[in-house]
Amino acid sequence: MADRKEQRLTGLPVSPGIAVGYLRVEARDCAAPAIRKIEAKDIPAEWERFEVALQRTEEEISALKQRVERLSGATEAAIFDAHLLFLRDTTILSKLNKELPSRLQNIESVYYAVVQNFMEVMRAVDDPYLRSRVLDIRDVLQRVLRNLKPASSSLPPKQEEQDSYILAAYELTPGDTADLDKSHVLGFVTETGSAMSHTAILARSLGLPAVVAVPRLVMDSQTGSPAILDGYTGTLILNPSAQTRKKYNTLRAEREKAYRELVKMSDLPTDTLDGRHIRLAANVEFVHEFKSIRESGAEGVGLYRTEFLLLGNDAQEMPGEEAQYEHYRQLVEACAPHEVIFRTLDAGGDKLPFEPLTEREDNPALGWRGIRVSLSRPEIFKQQLRAVLRASAHGHAGIMFPMVSGITEVRTALNLLEECRGELRERGQAYDEKMRVGIMIEVPGAAMMTDVLAQYVDFFSIGTNDLTQYTIAVDRVNYRVASIFRVTHPGVVRLMARTMRAGIPTSVCGEMGGDISLVPLLVGLGATEISVGTHLLPVVRVAIRHLNYEECRAMAEQALQAEDSVTIRRLSHELAMKSYPQLF
Ligand code: PEP
Ligand code: MG
Repeated sequence: MADRKEQRLTGLPVSPGIAVGYLRVEARDCAAPAIRKIEAKDIPAEWERFEVALQRTEEEISALKQRVERLSGATEAAIFDAHLLFLRDTTILSKLNKELPSRLQNIESVYYAVVQNFMEVMRAVDDPYLRSRVLDIRDVLQRVLRNLKPASSSLPPKQEEQDSYILAAYELTPGDTADLDKSHVLGFVTETGSAMSHTAILARSLGLPAVVAVPRLVMDSQTGSPAILDGYTGTLILNPSAQTRKKYNTLRAEREKAYRELVKMSDLPTDTLDGRHIRLAANVEFVHEFKSIRESGAEGVGLYRTEFLLLGNDAQEMPGEEAQYEHYRQLVEACAPHEVIFRTLDAGGDKLPFEPLTEREDNPALGWRGIRVSLSRPEIFKQQLRAVLRASAHGHAGIMFPMVSGITEVRTALNLLEECRGELRERGQAYDEKMRVGIMIEVPGAAMMTDVLAQYVDFFSIGTNDLTQYTIAVDRVNYRVASIFRVTHPGVVRLMARTMRAGIPTSVCGEMGGDISLVPLLVGLGATEISVGTHLLPVVRVAIRHLNYEECRAMAEQALQAEDSVTIRRLSHELAMKSYPQLF
C-alpha cells in the first residue's frame, strides 16, 4: 500500500476538520457486512443463525403491516406482503444454499452478495414497476442483516474494524449518520449529498469532518487505503505521501489551537460594536449535546429538532407524552434561565421518516412532511404539544411549527395548542402561560404573508435551507444542483427582509447563520437572533462582536438592490473581511 501513488478526489466540503487514517468503503445499497472465513463444519450453525434472523424479520414486518393496516387501511398495508414473500423467496434461498459451501464465508456476507446480484438484475430490467421494487428488497435486506448482527458480533472483530477509520460510502441517510460510532469514525465522505442535507447538518453537530458529492468515490477507493479527509476544502487524499501527511498534521494542530482560542471567549456577550444585542443560540439534535450548549456559551436553544427522537425507533413513532416530557424537561432545566425553542416534529421529505410510507412519494420535499404530518395525526401531535407545555413549567421554553405554508395551518395548530392547555388545566398540570409560540418561515408563500402571520404568533424563525430550496426550486439534497443552491439569491434575501420587517422578533436558524461571510447581511437585514450548531457558536460570536449594526444595515440596503447572488455575497463578505479578517 505504501508505494501507491498519492491521489486526490474532490467534492463539496460540508463539515470542517481534518481526519487522518485509513479508509473503509461501504457499497451502494447498505453497508456490506464484514467478510469472515468459516469452515464447512460451521455451515449448520450459520443456517441456524440465519433462520432466527428470518423469523425475527418476519415478526417485524408483520407487526409493521398490522400497524399500517390500522392507520391507513389494508390496501396500503399490502406492500408488506411482498416483503414477506421476498424474505422466503426460493430463488434467493437456493442460491444462498449453493453459494455458502463454495464461498465458506459468514452467511450474512454471502446473503448480501446474493441479494445485491438480484438487485442489479432488477435495476436493469425495462419495467418501471419491477425497478421500483428494488427499494423494497433493500429494505428487507437491511432488516435481515440487522437481525443477524447480535450473533455475528460474538465473532472476534478484525483488527482494522477496531481501529478508527474514515468512512467512504455511496450515500448516508440522516439515520445512518446519527448511528455512526464516533469512537471509530474519524470523518466521512460520500458520493452523493449536499451541504444542506440533514446528513451534512448532523456531521457538523457531531463535529465530524465530512465531504460529499465525490464522483466515482466507491469505485476509485479501497478499504484499507491510507487517507486524509480535508473537510475545509472538500478533498480526499488517498495514499498520501509522508510530506502530505506532515503538512496535514501541522494544519490540523493549528486549526485546533485557533478554535480553542475562540472558545475562551464563550462568556462574552453577543453585542455589536454599537450595542445591538443579537441572541446567539444553539441548534440541537441530540441529547449528548446538552453539555456543549452550556460550554459554547449559547443563549439557549434556538432550534431543537425534535424529529431526532425518531432515531433508533424501528416503528418510526414518536415516544409517548411522558417520555417526551421527561426529555424536554431535562433540556429546559439544563438551559435555564435561557429559552429552549422546541420545533414540533419535522419528519418526512429528506428527513427521518415518520410511519413507514406504503408508497413512494414522487416529490417528497413537497409531500407529507413538517406540520402536515402533525396536523393529519392530531392525537400524536397533541402528545407532543402537551409534553412541551409541561416542560415549560420547569424553566423557559418556546414552541414553533415547521414547514408552515399559510394561515390555516397556523390557526389549526394554535387551536390544538389551546385544547392542550385546557386538558392540562383539567389534569391539574402546570405550564407556562407566557410560553412563546412561533413558526418557521421556510416556504415562500408563508414568507410573503408574514405581515399577516405576525398577528398570530410571537416570533418567526427563518429556515434558510428550505426557504432557499423552495424559493429557487433547487433540491437541497441533490448533489447535481448543489453548486446552484444560493442562499444569497436576491429572491431569497428579499423574502428574508420582508419577514424580518414584519414587526416581530425573527431568528435565522438555517445553515446560512453559520457562514461568517453572511453574518453581516443577517444582522443588517434585522435578525434578532442567530441559531447555529454548537461547533459554530464560538466563531459566530466573535463575528457579531466585531460588527457595527449601522454599517450592516447600510450594506443590507445595498444588497436588497442587487441583481444577483454573487453581488450580495460579495457585499456581505467584504464587510465581514473588513470587520474580522482574523477569522478567515
Ligand atoms: C431550515 O430549513 O433551514 C431549517 C433550519 O430546518 P431543517 O434544516 O431542519 O429543515
Ligand atoms: Mg427546514
